[in-house]
Amino acid sequence: MTRNVDSVQEKVLAEILSGNANTEYLQRFKLGGATDRDTFKSKVPVITYEEIQPDIQRIANGDRSPIFSSHPISEFLTSSGTSAGERKLMPTIQEELDRKQLLYSLLMPVMNLYVPGLDKGKGLYFLFIKAETKTPSGLLARPVLTSYYKSDHFKTRPYDPYNVYTSPNEAVLCVDSFQSMYSQMLCGLLMRKEVLRVGAVFASGLLRAIHFLELNWQQLAKDIASGILNPRVSDPSIRECMSRILKPNRELADFIIKECEGQNWEGIITRIWPNTKYLDVIVTGAMAQYIRTLDYYSGGLPKACTMYASSECYFGLNLKPMCKPSEVCYTIMPNMCYYEFIPHDSANHGTISRDSPPRLVDLADVEVGKEYELVITTYAGLCRYRVGDILQVTGFHNSAPQFKFIRRKNVVLSIDSDKTDEAELQNAVENAASILRPYDTSVVEYTSYADTKTIPGHYVIYCELHIKDPTNSPSKEVFNQCCLAMEESLNSVYRQCRVADNSIGPLEIRVVKDGTFEELMDYAISRGASINQYKAPRCVNFTPIVELIDSRVVSVHFSPDAPHWTPERQRLEV
Ligand code: AMP
Repeated sequence: MTRNVDSVQEKVLAEILSGNANTEYLQRFKLGGATDRDTFKSKVPVITYEEIQPDIQRIANGDRSPIFSSHPISEFLTSSGTSAGERKLMPTIQEELDRKQLLYSLLMPVMNLYVPGLDKGKGLYFLFIKAETKTPSGLLARPVLTSYYKSDHFKTRPYDPYNVYTSPNEAVLCVDSFQSMYSQMLCGLLMRKEVLRVGAVFASGLLRAIHFLELNWQQLAKDIASGILNPRVSDPSIRECMSRILKPNRELADFIIKECEGQNWEGIITRIWPNTKYLDVIVTGAMAQYIRTLDYYSGGLPKACTMYASSECYFGLNLKPMCKPSEVCYTIMPNMCYYEFIPHDSANHGTISRDSPPRLVDLADVEVGKEYELVITTYAGLCRYRVGDILQVTGFHNSAPQFKFIRRKNVVLSIDSDKTDEAELQNAVENAASILRPYDTSVVEYTSYADTKTIPGHYVIYCELHIKDPTNSPSKEVFNQCCLAMEESLNSVYRQCRVADNSIGPLEIRVVKDGTFEELMDYAISRGASINQYKAPRCVNFTPIVELIDSRVVSVHFSPDAPHWTPERQRLEV
């Protein structure tokens, strides 16, 4: 597959175009039955979600005609990328699950090349499902991993000694995040010596699990000592399966108490699970911010980033999973979809002019060292769809290019799966500013910071204020309400992380002294920024800048409540 990238890609495109030739979407561009790249590229436009949103809405509302795919739409996958504040809906078809399974099935054979003996123990993986909803026409809408864990591919997977998990399916498939986490942690503790790898999808998820242990170890140890499951775990199927696993074990309970009761949690992962060979978590992209904390808790265990995937399509895998995080590159599998790349040099920033669209680069033609934005055409019917990821070519495996994940476009803040862009942040600040207006107080400048020193991490918004009349300045309570107003205006993925997953902590406003942002500008200029072009950064992460701004903080305020969130979408009807 990786030796014949170009011919595989040609075949994939021809399969997609011939399979979907009768769809309304492709018919619009009058391909006349052509399945070749030149015709496709000259007639079908490169698009973003917003351009197909009306068609997606028709499917959600019950139109079963072949709009994107000749196969029936089996469900919607809800991406963590949002549009107008709500998760994007990605139509998918049944056979996509097989393609995902194919990619999953490559992960352990690759890992086995580097870490022997993984068939001699178990993986402690913290895996979760999320709430699902139905569209007005009854199609399920849920995140891609929820769909996968609930599928037979996962639930009735055949026994494979390389893929034995400590977590029973019942625990993974419980939608209550406390009960699910509690029972998965309990199983991990009970089987601690068998555990050879510890993981979660993203680094933030694993840290959340460690924090959960910090908060709940006493109760967990009590359950282990007594052999009686915490009554807060009320899900009957979990209780039933735990009754087979949980037996009184005083010695293990004492061990857990001894390890957890002190203040020192350094190396806790290897102390509790001493046979762990590596952490299986994604630490590329926005997750790189967690590397130091993971190293602290694990004594620097290797962190394996195994794959690169999205709701739209699964893309590829890391063929050297034990490499350093900074060296991770993903080999794109040419059979998953048809890929194109928009060159993303500093001159064009990936902008596409309608008059002279650039010729997009094919998978086989990307050049080492260059950055590109990923565009995909999938079997489920997305055509020339901009995923929003910026990748850099690092080399080739046979003729398959390997990419480093550089970043997601337009994301300023991310703690977990949330992705907040500049416009959403601006809108949140404006809403908070309107609460300050009756106090004759305005926001002069602001910036933000993803604070991951706390677990869970949280958003920090630094504000410099102009208070006209200091005798009528806003009270602490007013600032707290500003924090909540900001949270209420952020997108639904953020609010779900806050409310249902507890994977983001309360938003914090740090009010800074007058003149702080001018100092920031002076600092940037001293480092070579141009005065004419200087704009206050909307997010800061460079340590000296964060330290400077933190040293000017005059008051801090936290959101007093959780924002509003329900699984129901706000804008299902257009
Ligand atoms: P979602 O649509 O919610 O499934 O999110 C998919 C997005 O997550 C991708 O488009 C990437 O931006 C990001 N992502 C997925 N896998 C990785 C990875 N291995 N490293 C960095 N970012 C990733």
